[in-house]
Amino acid sequence: MGTALLARGLTGRAPEWNLSHPDVVRGVHAAHVAVGAELVLTNTFVGASTEEAAAAMRLARESGARYVGASLWAGVADLEKQIAQLADADSLWLEAATSPRQALAAVRTAVQVTALPVVITCALRSAPLDELRAAGAAAAGYACSPWPLDATAADVVKLAAEGLGPEEWVRKVPSARLRGGCCGTDERYLAALRATAR
Ligand SMILES: [Zn+2]
Repeated sequence: MGTALLARGLTGRAPEWNLSHPDVVRGVHAAHVAVGAELVLTNTFVGASTEEAAAAMRLARESGARYVGASLWAGVADLEKQIAQLADADSLWLEAATSPRQALAAVRTAVQVTALPVVITCALRSAPLDELRAAGAAAAGYACSPWPLDATAADVVKLAAEGLGPEEWVRKVPSARLRGGCCGTDERYLAALRATAR
């Protein structure tokens, strides 16, 4: 989502576009659904106002995606409030944790305040996946960059493009139960990923 909005002229906070450019945000979700994405993530990664969060949820649902995940950076400041604002999602995605400590703290907070399945992704070469599951995460894995050294135990991988084209990226993305794209990817990458899952 961030990559797509930047390509369309975003300069400020992405969640503002849920209110100012709703058709664009809905269109990005819809482009992902059109190539086979089963789950889309709300445009709330950096944290949203109450109004922005409500719009984000509505726009994600309007894409027709089978599932909507509430997206929040694992280090977002007011995590409890942010989670509460996105309670209508099907799952909670705590994303791109930049340290094991941050990832564990986010999961521990989340499971106290939501009954949604909690997914945790780490932007780390190696993450304490078992510890994160023991803390209550329904799925644990890797997001963005750097790519993990070994993702064989990960439930989820949604990695950055890292300068690779769609076909090359897909060949290198590890297998996992949940897969998707992050910075630098777009619907071409998701289409290529989807083709390998059929
Ligand atoms: Zn990313």
